[in-house]
Amino acid sequence: MKIFKNSCSLDCFDVCKIDVYKEDNKVIKLEGSKENSLTDGFLCSKGLKHLNRLYDENRILKPLLKVGEGFKEISFEDSLTILKDRLVDIKNNYSTDSIIHYSESGAGGLLKGIHDVFFNFLGGISIPSGGTCWAAGCAAHDYDFGGRKTSDLEDMKNARVIILWSRNPAVTSIHLYKKLIELKKLGIKIVTIDFRDNETSMISDLHINVKGGSDGALALALSKLVFEKDLIDYNFSKNNIIGFDKFEHYLNSISLNDLLDDCGVSEDELLKLLDFISLGNIMTFIGYGLQRYINGGNSVRAIDALMSITGNVGKSGAGVFYSSKIYPEVLDRDPYGSSNFSKNSREFPITKFNEFVENNEIKAIFISKANPLNQLPDLNRTLKAYNSIPFKVCFDMFLTDTAKNSDLIIPVTNTLESEDIIYSSMLMPSLMYNEKVVEPYDFRMDEFEFFKELAKYIDLKEYPQVSKVEYLNKVLTPLNVTVDDLKKEDINIQKGYIAWEDKKFKTPSGKIEIYSESALNDGAEPMPIFLKATKGDEFYPIRLVTPHCKNSLFNQHVEDIDDISKIYISSENLGEFKEGDTVVVSSKNGSIHSQLKIDNTLKKDEAYIFMQWSKKQGNPNFLTPSLSSDIGGQVAYYDTFVSIEKKNS
Ligand code: SF4
Repeated sequence: MKIFKNSCSLDCFDVCKIDVYKEDNKVIKLEGSKENSLTDGFLCSKGLKHLNRLYDENRILKPLLKVGEGFKEISFEDSLTILKDRLVDIKNNYSTDSIIHYSESGAGGLLKGIHDVFFNFLGGISIPSGGTCWAAGCAAHDYDFGGRKTSDLEDMKNARVIILWSRNPAVTSIHLYKKLIELKKLGIKIVTIDFRDNETSMISDLHINVKGGSDGALALALSKLVFEKDLIDYNFSKNNIIGFDKFEHYLNSISLNDLLDDCGVSEDELLKLLDFISLGNIMTFIGYGLQRYINGGNSVRAIDALMSITGNVGKSGAGVFYSSKIYPEVLDRDPYGSSNFSKNSREFPITKFNEFVENNEIKAIFISKANPLNQLPDLNRTLKAYNSIPFKVCFDMFLTDTAKNSDLIIPVTNTLESEDIIYSSMLMPSLMYNEKVVEPYDFRMDEFEFFKELAKYIDLKEYPQVSKVEYLNKVLTPLNVTVDDLKKEDINIQKGYIAWEDKKFKTPSGKIEIYSESALNDGAEPMPIFLKATKGDEFYPIRLVTPHCKNSLFNQHVEDIDDISKIYISSENLGEFKEGDTVVVSSKNGSIHSQLKIDNTLKKDEAYIFMQWSKKQGNPNFLTPSLSSDIGGQVAYYDTFVSIEKKNS
């Protein structure tokens, strides 16, 4: 038996280090590595499923070509010829920007993103801007601090209070959760804030249940009290903040009662929360849920402002963390200058996918590391727009809802079948090398090799016909390390790092910009303000939120089993129904069938369905509208309002 080193390639905060056991040319077991202090010998069920997916009997191993209503297997050579003919035709007779490439984070790894390089060399294509995951919060931190940084997690032990604001690590970042349990034993206080009692709030010292879309109002209410109770760090604010006076002036102009009314929090609860903040050394981890509203960027900016005026930025034991964009800034991610060839590239907002397809002569779409026909909002219209595109190519391991609607499916490798370099921009601080453990069915299932072949077929002369190691070594050059170095040990350039400790913020002024001219120039509010949460109407009164669940992380892994989605509601919305009933959930955009569950920690007119359902099971994205957040072009999924009705028998 031999043990290989790998790491989890799912789009997860933790990016666990994995020991892979191989015997008789077969992977027999995955185990969390003890080498990595965050992984600490433990993998969650989602990571363990890499092995199930490797040998899953439903895995696609050969290219599939749509024929009538079904698919037929074809050879890799035939798939390459089909792609060559279509791409050359588009290049010669139209423009390459009539091709859309839609990619997400379904498989981490530098080489799994080689599609972008290929399409640049092809001449540039159309790609979506904004995002489905974290875009509004990213834009908020970029305006406020000029970037996104997280301190070394070891520094958590120097905090007095850790706030998890719309973040639920017990489900989405299990190793952070384990750390929290240890820190609690040391006397560090844990505060959770969410629209419901979540799995992490079970261990918190204080939980605040805030109405959906009103996190910004809560942060402003706290800031108002921080001024009133003189909890400001004046020295820090004077030296490091632009817009301090304007912010104070603005807070004086709004009413505390209006803010509290919006967020559904009592003054008593607010004072309790303030007591924790007054302890100092506050470390706040912001989740991605609170920015999936049309006021989501403003909410993140309001939290940033609160933590800035109280001096909880740029010092040990404190910080306001959203993500950690460190490696993308230091690696050479385009080592062969592909972007110089990308003359025809253009962007369109992802929230306008349907209009973009409807109003432009789109000739082809390529999907990689994604399942947009599960993930995008307003799926009835999106499905129609997708199917109107004459040539649809999907790279995937399984027949997802997107693959089923495509004309050509190209199989890809499992993370255990490809070498790669992995890092996270969310939490885990290491850069890691993934060994290839077993050979794939065909070497061209590896995207790096497939696109090299395709570039040869199309005669893209400048395309780098190099080995993976040669390619990766170039990517690593700025760090002055090689693949061989990474094979020996992981790199952690964030060890001992305290985010913004040098107080050199990367904003235009070099300071924290609570008031941001850049935001104003972009047509956004320059400062966080009171943007009330939206409300439903008499026909669709219930807000629907769609958070991540414990068992499934990415919509490419949605299991098409015989089950039906579950909608959690407050008992105040139960009416004529009882728990367990199957109902029709409708919005202005569509309807699904779902089974009723009660969660009494929900407020009236709030509901949630976890994101884990395929079309036939009742995917809630058939209900979500295609709205954009205030900044960053984030899909505002959580501004969905629904009604619940009887199912026709
Ligand atoms: S999904 Fe996250 S927690 Fe689970 S094994 Fe992968 S990286 Fe670790």
